Amino acid sequence: MASDRHVLISGGGIGGLTAALALARAGMRVTVFEQAPRLEEAGAGIQLSPNATRVLIALGLGEPLKVTAVEPLGIRVLAGRSAREIVRIPLGPSAEKRYGAPYWVIHRGDLQNALAEAARANPDITLSLATRVEDFAPHSNGISIQGRRLGQVVEERALALVAADGLWSPARALLRRQAAPTFRHKTAWRALVPAQDVPPQWRLPFVHLWLGPDAHLVHYPVKAGALINIVAIVDDEFREEGWSATGETFDILRHFARWSWCEEARDLIAVPERWQKWALFDRKSPARGSGPITLLGDAAHPSLPFLAQGGAMAIEDAAVLAANFVDNIDDPVKVLRAYERARRKRTAKVQRAARRQGRIYGRTGPEALVRNLVMKMMGGEKLLAHYDWLYGWKPPVFEFAHRHVTQVGDSEGAQES
Ligand SMILES: Cc1cc2nc3c(=O)[nH]c(=O)nc-3n(C[C@H](O)[C@H](O)[C@H](O)COP(=O)(O)OP(=O)(O)OC[C@H]3O[C@@H](n4cnc5c(N)ncnc54)[C@H](O)[C@@H]3O)c2cc1C
Repeated sequence: MASDRHVLISGGGIGGLTAALALARAGMRVTVFEQAPRLEEAGAGIQLSPNATRVLIALGLGEPLKVTAVEPLGIRVLAGRSAREIVRIPLGPSAEKRYGAPYWVIHRGDLQNALAEAARANPDITLSLATRVEDFAPHSNGISIQGRRLGQVVEERALALVAADGLWSPARALLRRQAAPTFRHKTAWRALVPAQDVPPQWRLPFVHLWLGPDAHLVHYPVKAGALINIVAIVDDEFREEGWSATGETFDILRHFARWSWCEEARDLIAVPERWQKWALFDRKSPARGSGPITLLGDAAHPSLPFLAQGGAMAIEDAAVLAANFVDNIDDPVKVLRAYERARRKRTAKVQRAARRQGRIYGRTGPEALVRNLVMKMMGGEKLLAHYDWLYGWKPPVFEFAHRHVTQVGDSEGAQES
């Protein structure tokens, strides 16, 4: 059944669920198809910078997220060889004041649950789990999709299809002239451990970022401080798709050699019994939609995790897409192209900035010494100011057609920096 204001979303990850909530707020009726039988995020943490939390809070998720989110006081950049603090970038209340929204770190499952619960409570959103979108056909009034649910064929018609189906987006593969993501010869190893298993200094509310030769390490508390999320990024040729590959502690320790990494860092890496591995890919530039189909989040513009912005970009996408629908419902194809234009420059800039950050983190020898010295001399405040273009982003004014008129930040500087 097609309806005047019906939009389909393929993928119920961070991007798809946020888009469903934002589109429903903008007066649309939304069906989300998710291939997984249950909505559960891989066990790991995620940093949510103010450009993302601003949108989530505007969608009414502030209170549920606050229950388990941790607001780090800062990012402590540490030298991998000595454990010496190179610089401390202030976050916490001062960043919240600067950007008008908090910087949070949170367990992905908690974020996914809050999004899914809000979607389930919304009468304009239908969540169809265990449903894989397999094909689509544009037509003069919109789009028809074909999928499969528990062996049964599913068909649905609507005005538009938003493909929020992740890095390996099957929908993107069905569109013509879209290159596959590029393998970056790096692997992210991720683990969650009980806070009591790590020394007290690593339980404090900070994002710890260790820089060392051929690897870097990030860890921070999640689940209101009960768990510590650890991410180690190393040069590697492992290139399987997906989130579920497991790794052994002895294997990851080999990347943190005794001669170049201090005992404190190595001891922390030795804590988890199980790791999950994720091969890193991105794209040179965002993929484009076509006709009544658009792409959102990693399907459009996967970025390397060095800026911690992939999820944030999907959340921003959702807000901009919904805002574009508010006044232009009569021409959905025009709405989708306007949304893509609005997002292109910023998401490409984030992709480039993330690659550059990866190169800076990966410096070795005298270049690493210069990097550390420059960071130290600049100081935390100046380093943070360097990201004003990123964290200070505000969604366009977003008038919620059916329910109420709400101002989500102001539109100044909203689209691109
Ligand atoms: C190590 C690492 C650390 C990161 N840290 C951060 C961070 O701190 N902050 C941050 O903002 N980002 C971070 N990211 C990036 C972030 O995880 C991703 O950008 C984000 O999850 C993308 O969300 P998405 O909704 O676009 O895609 P996904 O989360 O991949 O969701 C896609 C969904 O689509 C579903 N799907 C796929 N195909 C179909 C189909 N045919 N039919 C139906 N459903 C389908 C999948 O099952 C999945 O649920 C990190 C990434 C990595 C690898």
